Amino acid sequence: MRLVTTDAIVLRSYNLAESDRIVVCLTRTSGLVRAVAKGARRMKSRFGAALEPFTLIRLSFHERENRDLVTVSGAEILKSYFKLAGSFESAEILAYMGELVTEFAPPHETDERLFRMLTACVEALEYQTANQPTLTRYFEIWLLRLAGLFPDFRTCAECGTTIPATASAAVDVELRPFCSACAPVNASVLSPQAIRIIRATHQLSPAKFIAEHVLSDNESEEIGVLTHRLITRAIDRRPRTLVASR
Ligand SMILES: [Zn+2]
Repeated sequence: MRLVTTDAIVLRSYNLAESDRIVVCLTRTSGLVRAVAKGARRMKSRFGAALEPFTLIRLSFHERENRDLVTVSGAEILKSYFKLAGSFESAEILAYMGELVTEFAPPHETDERLFRMLTACVEALEYQTANQPTLTRYFEIWLLRLAGLFPDFRTCAECGTTIPATASAAVDVELRPFCSACAPVNASVLSPQAIRIIRATHQLSPAKFIAEHVLSDNESEEIGVLTHRLITRAIDRRPRTLVASR
């Protein structure tokens, strides 16, 4: 058995047997981890509130070869997001982010960029709870981008020419981007404004992005149609926690 200690963010937790809990965490150094916390449901559990969803913790666990489920040996709170947990809208977005990260993160495989992106989004959400649809689009674009599944709207997939930052881009049914000259007849078109917003997500941290951009309903919907198609294609289903109004 190997003892691993790493920063982790709790994505969800559920009961197991009489007194235990299973926690699903995204860790900084071990990717997605499912762990048993023994005795976590007892009144005087040594884990306290550390295993509540979206708590940032220093997690220690014992890893066994060929075992998917590890055993929690320690969990120390680094940061709690009390404000978020108390808001219904924030709780919805966190559940959505948790579901998608669980689907996208490779188990037991380090993906520090994904860990940093998720924790930065949660942090941004706490400081600016009002701008949630904008943050949701940012999160979706980056989740897809880190998985190598987000189209590069800077380059035409057909002729390789650079698509100007001020122009619209066409996407075919496969969601490949095209310049105006190469666009297939039945392509859908992303407005120059949507392209500009997408490019801004690539360059800014989530906190900076939502401070500088408040997406209108139309902008959010236009980008959402694209990200939801890409996500549904990647996981082969619609996310359970995707709320229609988002
Ligand atoms: Zn082209």
